[in-house]
Amino acid sequence: MARYTGALCRLCRREGEKLFLKGTRCYTEKCGIERRKYAPGQHGQGRGKLSDYGIQLRAKQKVRRIYGVMENQFRIYFKKASMMKGITGELLLQLLERRLDNVVYRMGFAANRREARQLVKHGHFLVNGRSSDIPSHILRPGDTVEVKEASKGLQAVSESLSIAEHRGFPGWIEIDAQGLKGKFVRIPTRDEMQLPVQEQLIVELYSK
Ligand code: SF4
Repeated sequence: MARYTGALCRLCRREGEKLFLKGTRCYTEKCGIERRKYAPGQHGQGRGKLSDYGIQLRAKQKVRRIYGVMENQFRIYFKKASMMKGITGELLLQLLERRLDNVVYRMGFAANRREARQLVKHGHFLVNGRSSDIPSHILRPGDTVEVKEASKGLQAVSESLSIAEHRGFPGWIEIDAQGLKGKFVRIPTRDEMQLPVQEQLIVELYSK
């Protein structure tokens, strides 16, 4: 599956706000958006008012960038969400939150979602006791995620976890920091996801 490999700070600058794509650096004055508060590129400082379509497009791009999902896969999530019972925009975000790479990040085993994706792809995790190296694996309530025994010495994991412990964990996961494992207790509510997006705009965009 293709993925974006360019500069991450550029993506935040394009959206005009912090998307927290890097980890610790995002909380320091080295943050790209703190240093250059305008969109990247030649015309970055002179962009005018967006059309309705432009606003909807930016909302969609922002969510794609936060979760590191490419357009085709994002459309598949939208299609799935629109076939489920409930509010499509919220269901879309919940599907993204349930991805294994996102849960690994939320559990504090990686500094950001991109790193989480790499760790998953390199086979460092067990889901319900079985190896899973698929970042898009959708978790269900009650599923457990655990760092494999052979990977428990990974410095990147322990460093990320100690920073995450300091910040605190979302209420919808349980963490056993000593055992390097966690439980996806339940699907987060919209408020718990704390995402700076209006998902309804994405629904409007795809409903045209
Ligand atoms: Fe975005 Fe983090 Fe870069 Fe700041 S440091 S621009 S929040 S990726």
